[in-house]
Amino acid sequence: MAFKLEIFPISYCAKYNPATGNWDEAWIEKDRIPFGELERMNEAKKAEILAKRNDLGLPSVSYTSQYGMGCFEGLKAFPKKDGKTSIFRPDRNAARFFSSMEGLKMPPYPEALFVKAVAEFVRKNAALGYVPAYESAWEEDNFAGASAVYLRPFSNSEGAIGVGISTAPSVLITGTIVSSYFKGGSTKAVTTKRVRAAPNGTGSLKCASNYVISALAKREAEDAGYMEVIYLDSEHHRFVDEGSSCNIFFRLKNGTLVTPALGTILPGITRASVIQLAKDEGVAVEERPIAIDEVLSDGAECFVTGTAAGVTSVESVTHEGKEAVFNKRKPGELGERLQERLKGIQYGTKPDTYHWNFAV
Ligand SMILES: *Cc1c(COP(=O)(O)O)cnc(C)c1O
Repeated sequence: MAFKLEIFPISYCAKYNPATGNWDEAWIEKDRIPFGELERMNEAKKAEILAKRNDLGLPSVSYTSQYGMGCFEGLKAFPKKDGKTSIFRPDRNAARFFSSMEGLKMPPYPEALFVKAVAEFVRKNAALGYVPAYESAWEEDNFAGASAVYLRPFSNSEGAIGVGISTAPSVLITGTIVSSYFKGGSTKAVTTKRVRAAPNGTGSLKCASNYVISALAKREAEDAGYMEVIYLDSEHHRFVDEGSSCNIFFRLKNGTLVTPALGTILPGITRASVIQLAKDEGVAVEERPIAIDEVLSDGAECFVTGTAAGVTSVESVTHEGKEAVFNKRKPGELGERLQERLKGIQYGTKPDTYHWNFAV
């Protein structure tokens, strides 16, 4: 599956008013067709409705469409075993979105508005059936095939044609239903010579312009038969940075779990959560530079983390023709355990020790 662009009937828009300093909020209600009814429509009718929902009335020519001057977030709402729905750590996405907007020198969207708006977005669309119902069958494969609501808040600039900075941005929230992210098959990763993030760049901001390189490198890796691409640092081309749109972890032969320190890379919320959960398991966790040579010689297990992927095992890492294979190409035990704990918290089958779930 991954992402099908079937966006929800109700979207959100807040427009910054530079004169008042306020964010003027509005709901964009395209239709009130319940989820089940949409699913039963013929393809042509459905396509027509979905195209209308995706027209959010944004200026066509803007700093965002011309120069990639925009930022975004990705977070999920989960249907839980107790029948309730909750969003995973929206306060963290709110804080990161605030820093991304500040990083692009735009008026930042207040964190409290973000949290309130994503919750209201889920409630409004849930009333029309756009939150999948919890299924006990998901527990059998540790939620690998489970569904959730993927939320996509993003900024968009006012109309503009010259290169410049947005002074009157809008923040929109759309969403779609997603099921498991990575299809079966190869989970091999390969390093790339391309650079996604550099010191004094925008790599640590979740901003649109970063992702052209990501898409190119990922395509090149896929064309060569790999699932994922690994970026090395821009200066020495020696230390591991991250995956195409996920963070990366290595369990070494001595049992330590290592992940690159924050700086140029994207500060993932799944990354932060997994570090906490690994420490709970008594695992020694180090956030530090890790050379690709160290991965090749001392790596025992590798996984990548992100909202879309959760914790996804990587069977091998190839660098300049040398392949390090982990755990006979089977998912590593630590990654599996962390995924079980993370999914258990999100879907409400395990205690939410840190109160990460935000009830909607
Ligand atoms: C979004 C993203 C991640 C993962 O962040 P989460 O908050 O865990 O979803 C990692 N790397 C990049 C480049 C990203 O864009």
